[in-house]
Amino acid sequence: MPPLSKRIGILGGTFDPIHIGHLALARQFSRCIGLTELVLLPAGQPWQKSDVSAARHRLAMTCLASARMLSTTRVTVSTDEIYHSSPSYTTKTLSAWRKYHGTSASLTLLIGADQLLRLHTWKNWRRLFEFAHIGIATRPGFDLSQADATVLNEIWQRSVSADTLRSTTHGYVFRDTTLSLDISATDIRQSIRERECNFSREISNVPDVVWKYIHRHHLYQT
Ligand code: ATP
Repeated sequence: MPPLSKRIGILGGTFDPIHIGHLALARQFSRCIGLTELVLLPAGQPWQKSDVSAARHRLAMTCLASARMLSTTRVTVSTDEIYHSSPSYTTKTLSAWRKYHGTSASLTLLIGADQLLRLHTWKNWRRLFEFAHIGIATRPGFDLSQADATVLNEIWQRSVSADTLRSTTHGYVFRDTTLSLDISATDIRQSIRERECNFSREISNVPDVVWKYIHRHHLYQT
C-alpha cells in the first residue's frame, strides 16, 4: 500500500527537562516511519509523577529543543495538555486529533519501554488503537517482556513492520529495538541538584540551548 501523505509522530512527555534520549527516540522513529511531522506534547499535570517543574519552564525548554531537533521532519510543540489544570489523558487527546485529521493521516504515539510497562494503568489504554499506532523504543533498565500480560497480548497481535505504519491510519504497533540510551530526566535533575562527579556527563545529555535555559533560570538546584 502507498504511504499516506501525512505521517505524524506524537512524543508526549514531562520534558523536565527534554534531553538527548527524547531526541534520539524522535530521530529513530522519524527515520523508520518516514514521519512528515513530529509533535512534541508536554504533559500538563502528569498524574503519575509529583514535583514536576512549572509548565512554563517545561514548555520553554521543549520549544527551544524543537528548533533544531530533526533536519528533514517538521517539528511542532502542542499545548493541548500542558495548560490543563486537571490531569489530561493521552487516549482523549489522541481521539481529538483523530477527529481533526480524519482518515488522511497516520498517527503514531511514540513511547519508550518504561511507558509500555505502565501502559495497562493508563485510562482507556486499549482505545488508543482506535485512534493511533504505537511506536515502542527500547530503553536500558526496562525489559519489554515484563509488560503486563494484557498489554503483551495486545502488542503481539498488533505488531507489524514500520512500512505498515506509514500506509495505515491507526491500530498497529512497531517495536524498534536499536535504541540503548541510559539517559533520564531524573538523573539529570539529580546531578544538577547534587553537583555530582558525573555532572558534566549529565549536562552533555541536554541540548545546549536547554542547558543555557536551566542555568539562566536556576532550575533543579534545590
Ligand atoms: P523522568 O526521569 O523524569 O521520569 P524521562 O527521562 O523518562 O523522565 P519523560 O519526559 O517522562 O522523560 O519521557 C517522555 C517519553 O520519552 C517517554 O515515552 C519515555 O519512555 C521516552 N524516553 C525518555 N528517555 C528515553 C530514553 N533514554 N530512551 C528511550 N525512550 C526514552
